[in-house]
Amino acid sequence: MAEWIIRGGSVAGPRGVEFADVAIEAGKILAVGRDLNITAERTIDASDLLVLPGIVDVHTHPVYLDDLESLPITAAHGGITTVIHFAYAKPGDGLMDTIHRFREEAEAVSILDFGLHGGLFDPAHQSHEIPLAIDVGVTSHKMFMTYAKLGWMTDDYQLMRTLDILGRVGGMGMVHAENGLATDYLEDKTNAAGEDPLDVFVATRPAILEAEAIHRAIAMAQVAGCSLYIPHMTAQLGLEVLGRARALGYRVFAETCPQYLTLTEAALREQGPLVKIGPPLRSESDRLALWQGLATGLLDTIASDHAAKAKTRDDDFFAAAFGSPQAETMLPLAYHGGVGGNRLSLKRLVQVMCENPARIFGLYPQKGVIQPGSDADLVLFDPHANVQITQAAQHSNASYTAYEGMSVCGAPVLSMQRGEILLENGEVHTDSRRGRFLRTKCGNATIADLKSRQ
Ligand SMILES: [Zn+2]
Repeated sequence: MAEWIIRGGSVAGPRGVEFADVAIEAGKILAVGRDLNITAERTIDASDLLVLPGIVDVHTHPVYLDDLESLPITAAHGGITTVIHFAYAKPGDGLMDTIHRFREEAEAVSILDFGLHGGLFDPAHQSHEIPLAIDVGVTSHKMFMTYAKLGWMTDDYQLMRTLDILGRVGGMGMVHAENGLATDYLEDKTNAAGEDPLDVFVATRPAILEAEAIHRAIAMAQVAGCSLYIPHMTAQLGLEVLGRARALGYRVFAETCPQYLTLTEAALREQGPLVKIGPPLRSESDRLALWQGLATGLLDTIASDHAAKAKTRDDDFFAAAFGSPQAETMLPLAYHGGVGGNRLSLKRLVQVMCENPARIFGLYPQKGVIQPGSDADLVLFDPHANVQITQAAQHSNASYTAYEGMSVCGAPVLSMQRGEILLENGEVHTDSRRGRFLRTKCGNATIADLKSRQ
């Protein structure tokens, strides 16, 4: 006898979408099939619903308004069941101290299972700890090629050195790819000329300087023999660079985010600082190119880049922080724009939001798939629900959503993590703190492997 059986849903399994039942026992998926002849303690009727693997969001920042406790709660309301947070080691912080601190705190307060990426602000004094981080299951490490004025930028010497270390120990490099010194110059020039920062924001961070940094990072990773993951790709020009690297067989994975798939630079006029994000929102043709990139397999993942910052529409644009709350709205927006907009099949949506993130970071098949033996992490999604997105209905601590008033078709109605109900009737069960630390393992997935499953 199983603990749960979910009957009659359209199940997005590894081979595609089919009507099936899902039986769950001891936190794992026991069986998947049509009209399963299994009795269960409890039954969930999933007719008219989609049964998806829990969403694996590999790009979250739990160090702002939403922290290690509250970020997983807003994420869970959006159908996310696994997160990989960036553990930011600021200058003066040790990498391992930072990783231990994030892990201990998250184990105490997180409702979601979580992994960690290292985030190196000062690789000259932190990269030597990378082999130790790999040993404890933190195998992907990010550096900034931008934000020089903020003191966050890694120069090419330290980037090359760190990718070299990562390559030797089987880790994965990650970069925020924008040319930091060039964008700082452009910003200084426009400030000196007294131009409105809102007017020139995108022009001081043009797509070609993002594409240049992507190319530079790919080149260095290739020299180092290191695999690379590029978060938050935004532009057609970046996709062209990525396409060339893929054609050459380089091991480069790439992500985009719901904000770049949904909004364009036109939103800056309407929302000002609320949509100040880096890299910036771009043109409509870039937005459409990103959907195309997901459909063709050039882009591998959608992740949220959730970074809830305190700001209002009326703040000084130049002084306002980069970042926005994104986790809770990610699945509805991606479903609405992708499947609803006939840009992605449901199978492909599940690949880019569940399977590929789990594969790239070595969590597959424990996470990211509905098949016997996998963790019973599921989201039941109503594709017919019409929902208007409002800040009032969100659970982030941010005072706004970038999608206020937008209507989308599709909403998560129930989720489970390891066979226990997480989201139900719009509420997330937060009573038991039960997130577990997940060791990542970058190095198993290959581009060819991801492509062959499309
Ligand atoms: Zn980010």
